Amino acid sequence: MMTETSHPPTAMPSFEQLGLPDHLLATLAEVGYETPSPIQAMCIPHLLAGHDLLGEAQTGTGKTAAFALPILVRLDLASKEPQALVLTPTRELALQVSEAFTRYARHLRNFHVLPIYGGQSMVVQLRQLARGAQVIVGTPGRIMDHLERGSLKFDALSMLVLDEADEMLRMGFIDDVEWILEHTPSTRQTALFSATLPAAIRGVAHRHLREPEEVRIRAATTTVEKIRQRYWLVRGVDKLDALTRILDAEEKLDAALVFVRTKIGTEELADKLAARGYAAAALNGDMTQGLRERVIEQLKNGSLDIVVATDVAARGIDVPRISHVINYDIPYDTEAYVHRIGRTGRAGREGVAILFVAPRERRMLKSIEHATRQPIEPIALPSREDVSSLRISQFKQKVLDTLADPDMEPGFFMNVVEEIVEENDLSSREVAAALAYLVQVGRPLQIEEEEGRGWEQATVLHPQGKPPRRESFVADAPRTRGARRDRNTTDAVPEKVFASGKTQRYRIAVGRDHGVTPREIVGAIANEGGIEGKLIGQIDLFNDFSTVELPALPSGLLATLKRIVVCNRPLDMRPFREDEALPARRPRSAVDSRRDDRSHKAAAKPWEKQAREKQVQEKRGGREKWISRSSGESRPSRKNAVQQGGRSFTNHTTSWKKRREQK
Ligand code: ADP
Ligand code: MG
Repeated sequence: MMTETSHPPTAMPSFEQLGLPDHLLATLAEVGYETPSPIQAMCIPHLLAGHDLLGEAQTGTGKTAAFALPILVRLDLASKEPQALVLTPTRELALQVSEAFTRYARHLRNFHVLPIYGGQSMVVQLRQLARGAQVIVGTPGRIMDHLERGSLKFDALSMLVLDEADEMLRMGFIDDVEWILEHTPSTRQTALFSATLPAAIRGVAHRHLREPEEVRIRAATTTVEKIRQRYWLVRGVDKLDALTRILDAEEKLDAALVFVRTKIGTEELADKLAARGYAAAALNGDMTQGLRERVIEQLKNGSLDIVVATDVAARGIDVPRISHVINYDIPYDTEAYVHRIGRTGRAGREGVAILFVAPRERRMLKSIEHATRQPIEPIALPSREDVSSLRISQFKQKVLDTLADPDMEPGFFMNVVEEIVEENDLSSREVAAALAYLVQVGRPLQIEEEEGRGWEQATVLHPQGKPPRRESFVADAPRTRGARRDRNTTDAVPEKVFASGKTQRYRIAVGRDHGVTPREIVGAIANEGGIEGKLIGQIDLFNDFSTVELPALPSGLLATLKRIVVCNRPLDMRPFREDEALPARRPRSAVDSRRDDRSHKAAAKPWEKQAREKQVQEKRGGREKWISRSSGESRPSRKNAVQQGGRSFTNHTTSWKKRREQK
């Protein structure tokens, strides 16, 4: 049977109506989910009823809860045997899904979920498996390993989910997936989720699903006139910083409606904006009707400029002043998007819609373009300098307006200033400067290092080389320094991408003159590019550029790395040509002599090839030796050392990763 929809938000059933038990309803209220997303509304009843399911929906539509919630309902927690298996294409996704299970199971006792993926220590995994878990979330390769070893037994398996099946196909895992399917009880319930359904995936569904319910989140087509649609690709700068720059620099911004996904999110973001001097408030379903009406009234009469809302709470708002709709969190489906942006461009005015799109949400962007039959243009984020000069010119205008204000009574205030001048032997310029300073506190004219600093630091590893805790990746405390990043800015790069084993030197446009350190480079490439630290080889710093040795990168990834900002500059990464003249000011040091016995060219000579093969083997053995490969010799004591004019730096990314694995 085929269910196809994208519900208008008004038709969405509640979580209660979907038949979820009280403890999950409580959890959902706590995590701030107001209503089920369309895919959740359509899948949860089928999965609770034990049917197989084929779900076609894009990233960001809320698939995880769509399968995790029914699984949690149907588990037998008295047993610790694996009863549900979720296969994901990447380790990053495996971790995300298993974190989601933990989040949704907070009121369940004796619940255990275990992520299992390649690259993690076998010893640790075996120990964890021996302890038992009802839900296993893993990448196909490692799950196969454990099945073959007998360390994982699926005799009690009753539910199986293939998440992002088309990604698994694209990455060449589909045979492994089928093998696993064949090694699980045929009585199991199976759900297959995929953004697209190419023939190969339909084939898998045909072979392994029994009379599946088909659910598709269809892209509806609508036209939105008078609304200029733009998007910003979430990269480098965190979303909050980006939002404030946009709010400051957008021309003709009167009032803005900012959409986030959760009720908690509305409050957090509104508080942060208010702390930065914006007239902002939250609007969500937890607020009483009276309170909501007041917020809307304030937005109408101009005592508020920014309202941060959830889809449900903003339904039907009609405030002609709303010049901008900002999709801070991407909507679940194109209809929700159309509904959101319809809050602007009202009463014959023009409207602007800005969408924040994380790299993994780009497919949703395409469907929105398709649905609205309009191209959505990318925007360049205004720089800190732009924002500063804008604030200064607004400030000047405010001073002039104040002088022209008939209510001001200039005589009285001039007397006060005069007194300060005389009593303290100051100039009136000095007094004016102090007053200007006072006025701008809370919304500084000069955007200082600190305010903008976070996103540069975000690319730098923890000073002690320790891992930032995962949680700290989530953008929070707006003015604090230190790593803060939105979790969804990075896609983990699957190891298979680098299967060729070739390395390449890349040139990046930051060097010593820009104050870069090797650690920042490693941090940026590892964190922002999602490339494991152990794959990052030798780094050489020059005056105005640096080189870094990496596995040969596919062009998509290279394009991503190009845009990463370090020390205020995009890396602009490109392959380094060995015949490129090295700059005159390059120091002659230990690096030079060492360079002579390194070969950066393709391994042409037999001994080089041999050395390369040896390195590849060593790598297979689980040790990180990319660095020594390039020097043609093994230097175990200097593993992952990076050089700066002859000095070595340890690649901390590797050491903390290893430490984590040993835990
Ligand atoms: P997908 O797997 O389809 O890419 P996810 O399951 O990862 O999507 O969900 C994307 C985001 O939406 C997550 O941050 C999740 O917490 C949030 N989310 C999911 N369902 C809801 C909901 N019903 N209400 C609010 N937020 C939700
Ligand atoms: Mg997902």
